[in-house]
Amino acid sequence: MTDSERIEATKRLKDVGVKDGGALVVGVAPVHAFNEFVPEGHRPQDILPNAKSVVVAGNQGPTAGAWRSTDHRVMEITGYDFRENVAVHVMCDFIEREFGYQAIQAPSLPVAGHHPPMSMMLAAVLAGLGTRSLAANIILHPKYGLLYYAALITTMELEPDQRLEKNVCPDPMCVKLYQVSGKTPCMAACPADEGGCLDGTIDEQGKIASSYYNRERCHTRAMNYGVGSFQKALTDIVCEDDAEVRKSKIYSDFFFNSSSALSYYKESVAQCFECMRVCPIGRKEKILK
Ligand code: SF4
Ligand code: SF4
Repeated sequence: MTDSERIEATKRLKDVGVKDGGALVVGVAPVHAFNEFVPEGHRPQDILPNAKSVVVAGNQGPTAGAWRSTDHRVMEITGYDFRENVAVHVMCDFIEREFGYQAIQAPSLPVAGHHPPMSMMLAAVLAGLGTRSLAANIILHPKYGLLYYAALITTMELEPDQRLEKNVCPDPMCVKLYQVSGKTPCMAACPADEGGCLDGTIDEQGKIASSYYNRERCHTRAMNYGVGSFQKALTDIVCEDDAEVRKSKIYSDFFFNSSSALSYYKESVAQCFECMRVCPIGRKEKILK
């Protein structure tokens, strides 16, 4: 494939991801970009032999309307979670059928503990879609802020995107607030020194100097319902000797929501968005008529 053919094929693939797959953004990273950060045995080419490129699709979870809902629980149950996966499936099919190269969805769900086989956060950064933030290390896109990412790995050589030269976080407004109060909006929403999860420092150039994120604490707040809560509730129920108490636990809201999270796979992504609710990045995109 010549350079111009590769550039044209990459453009067509991105168009398919956006127009047919519904992605908001699509970026490409060459597999060798992962070598600096990922140990041998865990790189894209270890998942798909002879892999050349990683294609990343980003999409919004909650809609602009969901962010504006007066009932915060709406965010928990009506997010368009995982629609970025659709874009990845559509692009995988396009690569295999149109160009004759292999493609596979990059595995992002953990198979042990909390560690996925491949980091979608790193893939998004290397594909030039965003940079790490002070808020739970979430990757912020410069225009849209918080996005959900999925990726594919392919043996096709595609035209890579450049990594962003400028860090998206902190926003200039956050730097000003930090200089006055010692906290950015996300840190103030979830301060580690008051039982929250976030802390950090910003240097004189307005860049992140250090960051602290208590993932385990955040997980217990932001992921109340899902596989973990179902396992916890089930253990509690089967160990309960009193039949009446056991029944009340089975019919409790907690067990209902945990079961719902599994069966509909809806409440499993997050039940806390507060650090992102106060983040100015992407705010304009959330203000519609
Ligand atoms: S998601 Fe919620 S609990 Fe987790 S860091 Fe953000 S504000 Fe804190
Ligand atoms: S509020 Fe957003 S932009 Fe500001 S420091 Fe936190 S994550 Fe960064």
